[in-house]
Amino acid sequence: MEPDRHRLVSRRQAIRGWLGTLVGTGLTGLLIPGAHAAFGRIKTVVIDPGHGGEDGGATEGRVFEKHLNFDVSRRLEIQLQRRGYRTVLTRTRDEFISLSQRSNIANRVRDSIFVSIHFNSARRTSAYGIETFYYSYDGYQLASRVHSAICRKLRPEDRGVKKGSYSVLRHTKTPAILVEGGFLTNSRERERCLQPWYRQALAESIAVGIDVFGGDVANGKI
Ligand SMILES: [Zn+2]
Repeated sequence: MEPDRHRLVSRRQAIRGWLGTLVGTGLTGLLIPGAHAAFGRIKTVVIDPGHGGEDGGATEGRVFEKHLNFDVSRRLEIQLQRRGYRTVLTRTRDEFISLSQRSNIANRVRDSIFVSIHFNSARRTSAYGIETFYYSYDGYQLASRVHSAICRKLRPEDRGVKKGSYSVLRHTKTPAILVEGGFLTNSRERERCLQPWYRQALAESIAVGIDVFGGDVANGKI
């Protein structure tokens, strides 16, 4: 679904959800504007390099998703620090960290957002492109800005901004997203993912999107 169309649908769902709650229909879990905890300035970005240690993530030949996730996370860290953000990585080396540990780390950091970095895989090897997941309303606001920045820079196959019931998104209380930076199961996209320029451009555009979100939060637009 295109991001703009998605936004319209989400807003309509949100209003319906709000009304539903009001009249006591018991509707919960819908996107409700203004229902987020008030936050001031975004000071810290918790970066979550997906997988690690015995969990390699998607694996194609000698390519391990965990290594690419970590590489993009480090590049993102540099970009964000240049823009004045503090950063926290959920893992700083190739080790196994459980999903609940990852969201626990995120939930301990004040004035923060959470960005999980992954690469994709599919049984259908023709599948390719970039998609960004969120779970909460605030997460959607962050996801749409980051995804737009990625698409502007990399012009990938745009698989859209999607609601995803991932553990790290559900259990993180701050605005949280998960970026799937390309399919390792697609040979052409895998070649791109293995190029340092691609991972650098991905990291730079994620940082741009985060900064747009941070600016909108600071200006009271979110
Ligand atoms: Zn993954």
